[in-house]
Amino acid sequence: MPELPEVESVRRQLEPELRGHQIVKVWTDVQRRFLDPERLVGHTVLDVGRRGKFLICPLDGDLELIMHLGMTGVLHLGPADAWTRARLGLDDGRELVFRDVRRFGGLAVVPAGHYEALPTLAKLGPEPLSDEFDPERFVRRLALTRAPIKPYLLSQRPVAGVGNIYADEALWLARIHPASRRVGRKRALALHAAIRQVLTQAIDREGTTFRDYRMVNGESGRNATFLIAYGQAGQPCPRCGTPLKKIWLGGRGTTFCPHDQRY
Ligand SMILES: [Zn+2]
Repeated sequence: MPELPEVESVRRQLEPELRGHQIVKVWTDVQRRFLDPERLVGHTVLDVGRRGKFLICPLDGDLELIMHLGMTGVLHLGPADAWTRARLGLDDGRELVFRDVRRFGGLAVVPAGHYEALPTLAKLGPEPLSDEFDPERFVRRLALTRAPIKPYLLSQRPVAGVGNIYADEALWLARIHPASRRVGRKRALALHAAIRQVLTQAIDREGTTFRDYRMVNGESGRNATFLIAYGQAGQPCPRCGTPLKKIWLGGRGTTFCPHDQRY
């Protein structure tokens, strides 16, 4: 599933392709996760931005195109195939194709900044690599919750863009048990730094590819071979040699070191 580094890699490739182009034609499959795609026709893409795992494209006429890749979404410039859910025709004859095998992705056109129809986006926490993601505010947020830390991170409320992969990696780095309900100041600061570190490294490697994630140019990210915790159950912990353990937490497979990630 694409997380922040994967969506950022897509954004970086999409921006020069879309910016300044008018959308002249829209075709979509019937989709309950699509909202008003036909409103795109006649509007020009001014920029391609991102918040958390959402791509946000400001359009002329004070609208925004919001796209979410879900689990298997891929954006590319044609040709379409049987898993194509949307095609946006551009003024120069090219087509932006939204391909999504499992159909958890979404596409919405909304008045700029109006995210009532998109509750996750409306309540999204601060952008992790910006100054908004303030360490002391993060400490206070974690002090106020008794939710287990990993599902709390996945809620996108304390910080945007962290999903299953990078939550496992950051918690390993900060030595915090993923089910911990009490993360004090020192550990919260370590987690804040770990989140920034794992996301920055993954962006540098253009994201993590297992099966579906591809950039706009069709290439995979290179981060998968660098993962320490996620998907590595049974492997020795690089810090202490204890075999990493897999548990289920909030419905998600979770891998951690039972020796040095403390509850
Ligand atoms: Zn260990």
